[in-house]
Amino acid sequence: MRPRLALVCQRANNVPFFFESAAANGVDVLAIHSPDEAPPAGMPGVVETCPLPVFDEPTRAWTDLQRLAARQRIDGILTLREEAVPWTAQAARILNLPGLSTSAAQNARDKARMRERLLEAGCHVPGFARLRDERDLGACSALRYPLVVKPSSGVCSTGVTLAHDEQQLADAVRMVVRMNVDKLARLSREGKDSAHFAAVVVEEFISGPEYVAECFSRGGVPHVLSLGHKGNPQGPHFEETVYLAPPPLESAVAGSLVAEAARGMQALGLEEGPGHCEMRLGADGRPYILEIGARIGGSGVSHFVVEASTGIDFAGLHLDFALGRPPRPIPLTPESLRAASNWIIPLGGHGTLRGIDGLDLVARHPDFRRLLRFGVAGSRYRPYPHFDGFLGFVAAQHRDTEGGLEFFDYLERTIKVQWEPGNPTP
Ligand code: ADP
Ligand code: CA
Repeated sequence: MRPRLALVCQRANNVPFFFESAAANGVDVLAIHSPDEAPPAGMPGVVETCPLPVFDEPTRAWTDLQRLAARQRIDGILTLREEAVPWTAQAARILNLPGLSTSAAQNARDKARMRERLLEAGCHVPGFARLRDERDLGACSALRYPLVVKPSSGVCSTGVTLAHDEQQLADAVRMVVRMNVDKLARLSREGKDSAHFAAVVVEEFISGPEYVAECFSRGGVPHVLSLGHKGNPQGPHFEETVYLAPPPLESAVAGSLVAEAARGMQALGLEEGPGHCEMRLGADGRPYILEIGARIGGSGVSHFVVEASTGIDFAGLHLDFALGRPPRPIPLTPESLRAASNWIIPLGGHGTLRGIDGLDLVARHPDFRRLLRFGVAGSRYRPYPHFDGFLGFVAAQHRDTEGGLEFFDYLERTIKVQWEPGNPTP
C-alpha cells in the first residue's frame, strides 16, 4: 500500500520540487491548507486536499485533524512552511507520528529564543536584545551600530531593517511593532500563538557574505548536505536574491561554516529532520548563524539545490523519517558533483507589475532547469521591508560554481521587470 503523507500549508506558489520527490518515492500526498489559501494545484503526488484552520484556529485544526485521521490513514505529517512548524510538531505528537519535538520547533520559530539557545551552546552570536516595543530601547544601549531590527518570528525578510543610529533604531522598532500588530490581528482573533509574533529582535549587523547550509539530522547527529552562497546584502532592507551551491569559498572557511551549522542544529535540539541554516561571515572571519529553519527551505527549493548539486534526495530523507520508513544512507562527507542555483527575480521597482521580459530567452540557456512564475501582471508590490511575494525563481544546474556565476551575469543582463509608470504604492 502506498504511504499517505499529510503536507501542511505548502505556500500556494506551487514550487513542485517536494511533490516530485514524494511522487518518485511512491508517496501519496494529502495537502492540508489554510481555508483562506488555495490548495496546491497540478502538483504530482497530491491525492486529496483538505482545509484546516491551522493559523486562525490551531486548536480546532488539531481536533479536525484527529477526526480526519480516524476516518482515513495518515502515515506521516510534515511541513515546509515556516509559520506552520510548531503546529505540525504538535500535530505529529497528537497522531503519534514521528516529528520534531515541540521545544525544538519553538527554538527555531522564535528568533530571540534561538539566539539564547545558540549562545548557551557556545555558538558565535552577535550582541542582541529582545524588545516588546520602543519602551524597551534601553536594552540596546550596549549593542554596537549598525544594528538589524526584525520581527521575532518573521519570514521572507519582512520588516528586517538596518539602523545606523538611535533615531533610525527607534523608527525601525516602531515599524516592526506595527507589522507585528498587523500580523497579530489575524492570529489574535483566536488569541493563539501571539507571543511568537509579539517581540522585536535587535542585533548587531554581521557584514560579510551570506551562506546557507542544508542540514539533516538523524538520531541526534546533524549532517550538512550542502553549502551555498546567498549574496552579500548590505541593507537597509534585505531582499533575497541568489543561491548558488557549492559557494566560491576556500575549503577552510567552508569547513568552519559546516561546523557552525552542525553546532547550531544541536543547540536548537533539531535531532531529527531537516534544517535550513543561514549564516554570514563576521568582520573577524568567523561564521555567525542568522537563523535555522526547522524545515526544507524555500518551499522545496532547498531540495532542488541539494539534489541537483550532490545527487542526495533531501526530501526523500525527510519522507523516510516522517513515514517511519527504513532510512536510506547519508554520505559521510557529501560531495558536489555539479553546481546548482536558484535566482530570485529582483523586484527592481515597485507599484503595479506590467510584465517580465527575457524569460523566454533564459529558458533556452543550457543551464536552465525550471522557471517558477509567481508574479502576475496587474499585481501590486510595495518596496521592502514589506513583502508582497516573489516575482519568480529561475532554477538551474551548472558544470561548476564558475558556470553558476556566469549564468547569474547572463540573467542580470537578460531579465527586465517592467512596472506601470506613475503612482507607485510605497
Ligand atoms: P527572515 O526570517 O525574515 O528571513 P532573517 O533573520 O533571516 O529573517 O533576516 C533576513 C535577512 O536579513 C538575512 O538573510 C540577512 O541578509 C539579513 N540579516 C538579518 N540579520 C542580520 C544580521 N544580524 N547581520 C547581517 N544581516 C542580517
Ligand atoms: Ca531568513
